[in-house]
Amino acid sequence: MPDLSHVEQASALRAALERYNHAYYVLDTPTVPDAEYDRLFRQLQSLEAEYPELQTPDSPTQRVGGKPLPAFGQVAHAVPMLSLNNAFSLDDVVAFDRRCREGLEKIAIDYACEPKFDGLAIRLHYADGLLVQGATRGDGTIGEDVTQNLRTVRNIPLRLVGKDIPSQLDVRGEVVMLRADFAALNARQRARGEKEFVNPRNAAAGSLRQLDAKVTAQRPLYFFAYGVGDATAFSPVGLLHGAPQEYLLRGVLPAPSSDGLLNQAAGNAEPPLDRTFHSELMDRLAGWGFTVAVERSVMRGAAGLAAYYAEMAAARAQLPYDIDGVVYKVNDLVDQMQLGFVSRAPRFAIAHKFPAEEVLTTVEAIEVQV
Ligand code: NAD
Repeated sequence: MPDLSHVEQASALRAALERYNHAYYVLDTPTVPDAEYDRLFRQLQSLEAEYPELQTPDSPTQRVGGKPLPAFGQVAHAVPMLSLNNAFSLDDVVAFDRRCREGLEKIAIDYACEPKFDGLAIRLHYADGLLVQGATRGDGTIGEDVTQNLRTVRNIPLRLVGKDIPSQLDVRGEVVMLRADFAALNARQRARGEKEFVNPRNAAAGSLRQLDAKVTAQRPLYFFAYGVGDATAFSPVGLLHGAPQEYLLRGVLPAPSSDGLLNQAAGNAEPPLDRTFHSELMDRLAGWGFTVAVERSVMRGAAGLAAYYAEMAAARAQLPYDIDGVVYKVNDLVDQMQLGFVSRAPRFAIAHKFPAEEVLTTVEAIEVQV
């Protein structure tokens, strides 16, 4: 049973994280460094793990992002835009790989490894190859309609090119500001006596979430695609029992078979499944005109992930954009569906964070000392 001090601690942590979330997601002006936010978030997570009765449905550990600003039009995400669970150590990565292997009953798993862009999550909707809508992640279910602003981002294709483009396509990715552009923007702000931005992430988010698209157009933004909203559209016919509801709701795949095994194509007892891979999906996105990270790799097992992490940690300072870690995703799309999701994040992916690099110029006094 939690005692009073646990109850008070959980409530203080929730209140502080709520406030930091609002400053970060809604106002684009963080008041504490990310590492400090992450430390408090982990504390709340372990308190809630120890005393589940302390967990509230609206706890920051159960939710994604922040409320969309009412000044923007609102857009519902047909497939929720979730967050990612974090790994902060090699032990966390080994545990992630073990969970995936156990969940899939496999000896070794291939992972698509990518940089974790430190920017703003965006969803772009294309109808017959034409960009028709762009939205922020918002609270994961409802995002902000920033279509006009996104049209000003020069490397976002307004019309897709190439073969086999699905008639309806949701592309997900991150809007960032390149480091060199950020330095130049802040130099301009300084010269004009205007407020400088804290870091490229907040400059990107603040620039995109402008009510006047003309302001966004003057800001150098860049989009990296890292996935699609509904991977089932690209995967073979087959769905595992217990796959996330949204896949069923989309009606893309047949309902699971009663024995809970793979629901195979009609009348065929055990057809071989063509596997489709996230890494291939990324190649297709690049072919249709999206910018994707060149620093992508497919690696096997926890040892492979550790090698990728070391490589990217060494390359980090030379990259033209900020990253706050790397992301590992089970590469096989059917395996992804089988692993599914927990409340705010997929089970098939994890963000392996780098140690903090950032220093904020104005930092709120941290009042939750636990
Ligand atoms: P997150 O940034 O840790 O991870 C999820 C996000 O990663 C996705 O939404 C996506 O936008 C992004 N991403 C980047 N590259 C990706 C890739 N290759 N593949 C898939 N996704 C990729 O999660 P979050 O919920 O957006 O934010 C939580 C983090 O934000 C915290 O860990 C903290 O560091 C920071 N934060 C800081 C404050 C603060 O006050 N300083 C407040 C809130 C959040």
